[in-house]
Amino acid sequence: MPDARKTADEFAEVWTVPGAVMTLANGEQRLRGGKCQGCGAEIFPKPKVCLSCWSEDIADDPLPTRGKLYAFTVVHVARKGWRTPYVIAYVDLENGVRVSAPLACDPKAVPAYDSAVRLKVGEIGRTDDGRPIMSHQFEQA
Ligand SMILES: [Zn+2]
Repeated sequence: MPDARKTADEFAEVWTVPGAVMTLANGEQRLRGGKCQGCGAEIFPKPKVCLSCWSEDIADDPLPTRGKLYAFTVVHVARKGWRTPYVIAYVDLENGVRVSAPLACDPKAVPAYDSAVRLKVGEIGRTDDGRPIMSHQFEQA
């Protein structure tokens, strides 16, 4: 039972990249990329300004949920509240966008390079006051 003396903010989730995950009308969670309306570049996370042509006309671009593991490293010292050790990876999505994200796996049994992975959204730790730290992640598909 929640403590009635706490405010809603004290129970609120904390996101590693606020706004990085969007929920589509069908309930599916996707990464919120940005597609530049000037040059067509696709970028994650969605920027305010295109990194290629400086256009400010950037549309929401729900990114593919599947990709391949490009690179990774095991992190032993992390931000406060994050569970360690954890794996941080670069994933190449099916549309070519490269995304950095935690890889949900045993750090001693990381999938091989080029393994198929899929998006997973979930908790990666807790703040000092017990709020969940949420993040986009990937897991072996
Ligand atoms: Zn552009």
